[in-house]
Amino acid sequence: MNRYLMTRQIIFAAALLITFGVFSWTVSRLLKYFSFTRSGFPVKNLGKRFGVMMEVAFGQTKIFRRPVIGFAHAMVFWGFCVILLGSVEMVIDGLAGTEKALRFLGPVHDIIMASGDIFAVVVAVAIIIFLARRLFFHIARFEGIEMKKRSHRDANISLSLILLLMISLISMNLGYLGHAKASGTAAEGLYPFASLLLVLFPGITGEAHHVIYEASWWTHILAIFFFANYLPYSKHFHVFMSVPNVFLTRLEPLGKLDNMESITKEVKLMLNPETAYAAAPADAQVSRFGVKDAEDATWKNYFDSLSCTECGRCTSVCPANITGKKLSPRKIMMDLRARMKEKGPLMAKNGRESSDGRSLLRDFITEEELWACTTCNACARECPININHPSLIVDMRRYLVLEEASAPGELKSVFNNIENNGAPWQYSAQDRMNWAKDMEVPVMAELQARGEKPEFLFWVGCAGAFDDRYKKVIRAFAKILNHLKVSYAVLGTEETCTGDPARRAGNEMLFQMQAMQVISTLNGYGVKKIITACPHCFNTFKNEYPDLEGNFEVTGYIELLNEFIREKKLSIPASALRDIKVTYHDPCYLGRANEIYEEPRNILKNLTRNLEEMDRSKSFALCCGAGGAQMFKEAEKGEKEVFIERTEDALKTGAQVIATACPFCMTMMTDGIKYKNKEEEVKNFDIAELVVEAMGI
Ligand code: SF4
Ligand code: SF4
Repeated sequence: MNRYLMTRQIIFAAALLITFGVFSWTVSRLLKYFSFTRSGFPVKNLGKRFGVMMEVAFGQTKIFRRPVIGFAHAMVFWGFCVILLGSVEMVIDGLAGTEKALRFLGPVHDIIMASGDIFAVVVAVAIIIFLARRLFFHIARFEGIEMKKRSHRDANISLSLILLLMISLISMNLGYLGHAKASGTAAEGLYPFASLLLVLFPGITGEAHHVIYEASWWTHILAIFFFANYLPYSKHFHVFMSVPNVFLTRLEPLGKLDNMESITKEVKLMLNPETAYAAAPADAQVSRFGVKDAEDATWKNYFDSLSCTECGRCTSVCPANITGKKLSPRKIMMDLRARMKEKGPLMAKNGRESSDGRSLLRDFITEEELWACTTCNACARECPININHPSLIVDMRRYLVLEEASAPGELKSVFNNIENNGAPWQYSAQDRMNWAKDMEVPVMAELQARGEKPEFLFWVGCAGAFDDRYKKVIRAFAKILNHLKVSYAVLGTEETCTGDPARRAGNEMLFQMQAMQVISTLNGYGVKKIITACPHCFNTFKNEYPDLEGNFEVTGYIELLNEFIREKKLSIPASALRDIKVTYHDPCYLGRANEIYEEPRNILKNLTRNLEEMDRSKSFALCCGAGGAQMFKEAEKGEKEVFIERTEDALKTGAQVIATACPFCMTMMTDGIKYKNKEEEVKNFDIAELVVEAMGI
């Protein structure tokens, strides 16, 4: 072997060794930080995870929710995948002193080289567009308090590096092809774009081509080595992290919050000391409930934070952020990453318990930010790499409530009311059946006394029992059940709050106490099937009670109405509603939380010929502002109330009726219509009311 090639190999091997050395050091530091985080989030269902990874990461499906810029991003991703194969060949060549070591793959090698050659141009064009957007245009989602100068600089450096990689790849292919042609040897692989360049620049000599090739080869490979070690310190770390993060997606419905096992043990202990003592493992102790600092977060939260691309898609759809409140879901992720970067070295040196007198809560994320969240899940739905922000936000609320008894005053009253009256409002349980005045509504205890057992338990919910407006909706739905002679009964005065508002407000203890009480009552009656009339109750029964051994077949009233229509049990006659323009507001806990989008629309299409979608609808729908226990408290400071923003969406359609399917949404949209002085022209009805109106029952 000649001296030049040997020197080349030695330099390459040294560069590779340094790259791996630095990279391994960085990774070992990160692994150490992971060891400080909380366990949890068991990784099961590998087959399903693989499917999600193929669809979301490699198929780039979520990126295409914004088709134009999404297309450019997808091209960059796919381009990277293809070009990576060529880079593997370069590493083999560098180490072995070969040229085009994978040539034995024949036509496959041709395809790899040709795709890499074409994608290099496509990626370069996309990167120039991205850089131009960042440098010369004002793109709202690239701004925000969390987007410091460093973030912008970091993005620009990373994009410039990628551009350098692509330009060096293009010139490397040009030099390789040009030199091969000049020396009369056959080129290994196909290079369509380089061939075109050769035609455009015919005057370059064979020797010059060789110099171009060598210079570009080294520029390209050294840029890759540098990039690999720069990435972990930049937002572009997602180049490594995003595919594994998608593989690690939370597979449950977005509406489900994780159960706090430590609280379950405490509650069981309170309710049944003897059995719970026997069941509790010795390590049942936890140092802290909820998340106060970086090490309280789960390893998955930290993984999310390292994967975040800072693209701002989450923040751009966050109702709190849109209406000028301090909350930005992207900031939550960036803050967790920054806090671990700050505290990690200290914990690595002095142990997990060491303190620097600062914490993620308050020094990075304020209480105001946390209490602004409606748990609408728009952020989680939008994130292209399936990061879940609300779970961390609620975990931080859990710390505030469970460890510091700190919450907005109105929420403390809600906790008291649920504890004392079994409802978020100060009403007596004795009034729970007032909605059914003058109606035939079977009650569970009475049926049982007669030795009868209904097919369904109809769960009315606190709003249905006590909110004057929503009582009408419950009456309407009960009329349909009676009309169809459905076998059902309600719990009546035995019903109590499911605990949903308490859980979303961070009071996990109260939630679980309510949940266990409800489950015990329902099991006492041998209930198997439940119909709910509120998406929040639906979500709690369907997704969260199974963690507490509450296993029921749960159907929402909208799903059931749709089923009645589909099975032709319910036929809706043509009515005056037919020509009325209706728009539908998707409740977050029906839509994003549980993917129920088509059922309400099917029902409405049976009622009107004039169903008009809002600009933001289905999974893009804006929250009404009431979820996550916001219904019971003053909104955090901002430029606008969320319900006004959403009502404006609805009014823009010119609809005379805003249809809803949730008690909280109904309150918000009604308030919005009042606020906009549109009470004369626009009405708000629940879908069940519209069905009853059309049927004239
Ligand atoms: S859940 Fe909704 S309100 Fe909360 S951070 Fe995400 S988008 Fe914003
Ligand atoms: S959390 Fe997801 S959507 Fe939000 S900035 Fe990070 S990557 Fe983008």
